[in-house]
Amino acid sequence: MHGRLLIEGGLVLAHAAATPQRADILIEEGRVQAVLPADQGSSGGGVDAAVPRLDASDRLVIPGLVNGHTHAHGALGRGAVEDVALEGFLAASPSINGGRGIDDLALSATLGAAELLRRGCTALFDMPAQMPVPTLEGLHSVAGAYARVGIRAVVAPMLADRTLYQAYPELLATLPQALAPGAAALTAPAPAASLAAVQAAARTWPFDPARVRLGVAPTIPLHCSDELLRGCARLSAEWDLPMQIHLAESKAQALHGQQRYGKSLVAHLADLGMLGPRLSTAHSIWIDDDDIARLAAAGVTAIHNPLSNLRLGSGIAPVRRMLERGLRVGLGSDGANTSDTQNLFEGMRLAAFVSRVTTPDESQWIGAAEAFHMATEGSMHALGWGEQLGRIEAGRAADLVLLDLAQPGYVPLRHAVRQLVHGESGAAVDRVLVGGELVFAHGKVLTIDEPALRRQAEAAAQRLDALNAEGRHLAQALRPWVSAFCCGVGRRPFPAQHELRGA
Ligand SMILES: [Zn+2]
Repeated sequence: MHGRLLIEGGLVLAHAAATPQRADILIEEGRVQAVLPADQGSSGGGVDAAVPRLDASDRLVIPGLVNGHTHAHGALGRGAVEDVALEGFLAASPSINGGRGIDDLALSATLGAAELLRRGCTALFDMPAQMPVPTLEGLHSVAGAYARVGIRAVVAPMLADRTLYQAYPELLATLPQALAPGAAALTAPAPAASLAAVQAAARTWPFDPARVRLGVAPTIPLHCSDELLRGCARLSAEWDLPMQIHLAESKAQALHGQQRYGKSLVAHLADLGMLGPRLSTAHSIWIDDDDIARLAAAGVTAIHNPLSNLRLGSGIAPVRRMLERGLRVGLGSDGANTSDTQNLFEGMRLAAFVSRVTTPDESQWIGAAEAFHMATEGSMHALGWGEQLGRIEAGRAADLVLLDLAQPGYVPLRHAVRQLVHGESGAAVDRVLVGGELVFAHGKVLTIDEPALRRQAEAAAQRLDALNAEGRHLAQALRPWVSAFCCGVGRRPFPAQHELRGA
């Protein structure tokens, strides 16, 4: 009976367009073997009595949510990011992510993974940062953390060979004498070093690739030379690595991209051979209809990240226009440092609701089923496991979430998908299974010692904040100039806190 389990008597929501039905789910060797409609009152009929049972009565059973875009390093940076736009955040990120050892990389990934499981997410596309340059050891550290926690993950190291000030050379020219040398002294690794680390990882990957696989992530077009972008595309093709890039996340990126390349960022990526079904584009906000058509034709997946887009004031992705033009759309949380949470239930609700502030035309709004589809099957394609996740059906991975129907949001229960997307906070998550194995139950992540994890995180934050104090001061001094240049909000120092309080 090894590897078999019967989830008995739950209300099963197999996919976004399905009507929930009372059914038993038979799991074998990590996959759904069968979904058996429950006969009145006596479920589990016909299944060997020796198969272990998990009682799911009064539970809504949904496919595990799939996070299409996040960052392992974000969890340890939680609370460190001020009220800044994207470029202000990027200016501060060396001082948030700097000084981390190999163990810190694993610690941050573990924190993120534990939060994701608690919020019903069973798979993620991760873009971890390692400073100053990604290493094989660092990648193994992050991947090992996911393997231990028991979450499914793509580990795609974030690569760049230009700093923010090299991406926007004109910004450097606007800085005052006191700050310019500090900004100019920041460096990014040469493309060869980053690409060699990914190549070495691809050649010797020691993890079960069905659970934790390698990807590649040239971080932002303007932050990557053509040589690095081409190198990433080559590695992705050679080793079948899912590839992801932040695309036109801010208006500054889109405008400066146009200026630098004489074409849109999407056209630039297309000319370098980057577009294809292995590519997903995080954010994809400042793109036009031609860009969307081009991405759709190439089989790219766009990942919508409303949590961080609202937090950073980046804008709202044209999701309806994407869907109308056949571009696949997934959903991401983005890192916990810029979304403050790893909660795709909130992500779904925001995906549905931000579409409504853009137009009063209801036909253009994102509906609950569409948002749920994004957070399951939409994101699934970015992770590169084909059609193995995102639905509850025979043959797919048994990545499942049981939601407690006694929670207020489901009482009375009329429309499961609507009530889930519009009302679920994650509080109803009762049990989570990845590959048929129970990893969250009774309010606890079963694979790790969460109180110890918390103690380690507090100690690491204290140590890293002290280590990064100098960089933090530089970033804070640079911030008004970065904002003035990238967001056009005027060159002036921000008011001090005491001035705000006195106002
Ligand atoms: Zn991101």
